[in-house]
Amino acid sequence: MPKKDSDKQSTAAVAERYSVRCRYCGQKNSVKDDYKNNQANCGKCKLPLSNEPHKKFADLNKHDYIHPADSKALAALRAIPGIDTALRQLLKVTGESAMRVMFMASAVKITPEQCPDLYVKLQIACTTLGVDMPDFFIQQNPVVNAFTGGVDKSVIVLWTGLVERLNDEELLAVIAHEVGHIHAEHVLYLTAARLIEALMNASVAALVPGKDILKFIVSTGISSALMAWARRAELSCDRAALLVTQDPHVVGRTMMKLAGGTYASKIDYDLFLEQAREFQKNYDEKGLDRFWADLLNAGLTHPFPIWRVSEILKWVDDGQYQALMNKQ
Ligand SMILES: [Zn+2]
Ligand SMILES: [Zn+2]
Repeated sequence: MPKKDSDKQSTAAVAERYSVRCRYCGQKNSVKDDYKNNQANCGKCKLPLSNEPHKKFADLNKHDYIHPADSKALAALRAIPGIDTALRQLLKVTGESAMRVMFMASAVKITPEQCPDLYVKLQIACTTLGVDMPDFFIQQNPVVNAFTGGVDKSVIVLWTGLVERLNDEELLAVIAHEVGHIHAEHVLYLTAARLIEALMNASVAALVPGKDILKFIVSTGISSALMAWARRAELSCDRAALLVTQDPHVVGRTMMKLAGGTYASKIDYDLFLEQAREFQKNYDEKGLDRFWADLLNAGLTHPFPIWRVSEILKWVDDGQYQALMNKQ
């Protein structure tokens, strides 16, 4: 016997009542009648399901979140005569084509069909910050890291060592951090920094095209100024990660995994935050701690994870993050 119209309406009303639209990707998810926010995951993006608002920035200005240490180091870098021409020339003859061949040949390209939930996380980060979709790869590499490069077209590569350690929210944070590099227009300098590092360490450095430009870049001090800037640029992109996850503790827990590795499940997050505040206090008050922190960090591609947490906490504590969230 066909259902009466009133029956159909009430069935639709029940379905409506038991469905939740994902705050991140907009997918409608059916939920059980005892549903509570963040206790189930979205079927599409796999992020915790919630109908709370998620801000998408209409016209985000990079100067609203760029870390002052990033702007200062960038100004020093830009003051070196001939830098842009030299770096563009280096990338033209060496980097971009080799990079694309390498990723297409050795990494897995993420698409709407291939690892779709990772692809959707990239879409969420891009739509939140207002960035065109880059190419996206995942590559077997035990090192816990990710890469953003490409001047003609941006490309983001996540290494398996990173992806395997993180949950879905933390993955969104690292993808958003990488998208932040594109939004903050870091890509030319960042690609050059990573390429110069690779070339300086590679046994084939003497054979690659562009070795004369490379020599020029090293001898004029461009390379060391570039590395100093690249570390500071990371602090801006941690802020971009926060603008996408919209929860400082997701960024904090991601850093805890970077610091504690596979042991992170046994680490107390609140004590980890306390450690970050203690590190910052010592850095601010003790000249010797500051000296060692700066010196030890100078040899790394990224700032220390504890430092990164402390910087994010500072940005939240002094109200700048909330002011930006309220701005548009
Ligand atoms: Zn979703
Ligand atoms: Zn980065």
